[in-house]
Amino acid sequence: MMLGFLLARAGVDVVVLEKHADFLRDFRGDTVHPSTLEVMHELGLLEEFLKLPHQEVRQLGGQIGEDFLQLADFSHLPTKCKFIALVPQWDFLDFIADHARRYATFKLITEAEVVDVIEENSRIAGVKVKTPGDDLEVRADLTIGADGRGSIVRDKAGLQSQVFGAPMDVLWFRLARKAADGEQTLGRIAGGKMMVMLNRGDYWQCGYLIRKGELENIKTRGLEQFREDVVSVAPFIGDRVSELQDWDPIKLLTVRIDRLRKWYRPGLLCIGDAAHAMSPIGGVGINLAIQDAVATANILAERLTRNTNSLADLERVQLRREFPTRLTQGLQVFLQNNVIHRVLGNPDFNLPGPMKLFNRLPFLRRIPARIVGVGFRAEHVKVGSADYTDSAD
Ligand SMILES: Cc1cc2nc3c(=O)[nH]c(=O)nc-3n(C[C@H](O)[C@H](O)[C@H](O)COP(=O)(O)OP(=O)(O)OC[C@H]3O[C@@H](n4cnc5c(N)ncnc54)[C@H](O)[C@@H]3O)c2cc1C
Repeated sequence: MMLGFLLARAGVDVVVLEKHADFLRDFRGDTVHPSTLEVMHELGLLEEFLKLPHQEVRQLGGQIGEDFLQLADFSHLPTKCKFIALVPQWDFLDFIADHARRYATFKLITEAEVVDVIEENSRIAGVKVKTPGDDLEVRADLTIGADGRGSIVRDKAGLQSQVFGAPMDVLWFRLARKAADGEQTLGRIAGGKMMVMLNRGDYWQCGYLIRKGELENIKTRGLEQFREDVVSVAPFIGDRVSELQDWDPIKLLTVRIDRLRKWYRPGLLCIGDAAHAMSPIGGVGINLAIQDAVATANILAERLTRNTNSLADLERVQLRREFPTRLTQGLQVFLQNNVIHRVLGNPDFNLPGPMKLFNRLPFLRRIPARIVGVGFRAEHVKVGSADYTDSAD
């Protein structure tokens, strides 16, 4: 959606195909990081964006057994917004789509499911699309596979990926939040269990980590035992854990880290999760996808308006974005293997001594804040705006 917006804004004819009727779906992460907010600022949309209902996370911390760890402090970032904005993904997508629609060059077709690519002379010439009405063929000079971690585009185009293991999955659910709970977005580790709690105003969005593939065992042990496990890691929610009445509102995120070896073929480029599914560690998936979109628009927009994009341009996008993706995924794999793997099922896990330095030396908190908030290669909007069709400028 972001790339569609940026390209349409630069005067490129764009069709965005979305298989669902709208964007209102299960929780898929709400973390809009300072790097993405900076992009919104560069687009002149920040003020309006921040009018959407949101919460602002300025610090990240963790309760590890008896110890509290203050891990990240965003207040020193060299960005306009020194916080993570928690905005539901559907609000974010609707916002971008509404702005994109102001350009005559933008078209969004919903209930349009891509089922295959069109291949002609070893080149991807577009996609085959299933709709509630007729099936369509959408032809394009360049097809972008931005269809997420289960990308059909990358599969049908035969792009190969490397899969990196993940020792955990995540169960996401909501529990009511009370004013007395405190504000801070927290990771919690206790008794071999781990949970993340995002402050969403009147509720907590909870992410409870389990060993990969353990869900069926957890279900067999029963909901009451699960509720007890949740309370053991966050005792203050004991008075409302009964809100979890059945398994329905508890959604499984199967954690996956993978990356395409080659993100492109003649006529096709994959970005975002379709090119590299991210672990939820750091909540960076949305932001990396946005950064990919910005880099792609910077590199390709002008070429696309002149219809001169080449395979070398697609390679440039991969070269530009593979480096931050590799580093981020490398760090995620390291943390999965060295922290999460050691925590889950190990009641004796305590805060490692060196980590206590984050509490004593506040400047250290700037490092995780930088990695999470901005990432390894910040992209800036360089591509201009062609013609607005309303008063948005
Ligand atoms: C439960 C969960 C929690 C997460 N939490 C976080 C978090 O806290 N922070 C964070 O940054 N990231 C989080 N993520 C990851 C984040 O959602 C992704 O990294 C990010 O959305 C990737 O963006 P994308 O545009 O590449 O793909 P997606 O956001 O997956 O978008 C792909 C789009 O393509 C559509 N689509 C798919 N297949 C087709 C098809 N065949 N035809 C047409 N349309 C299709 C989908 O409906 C979807 O709208 C989470 C993911 C999940 C599942």
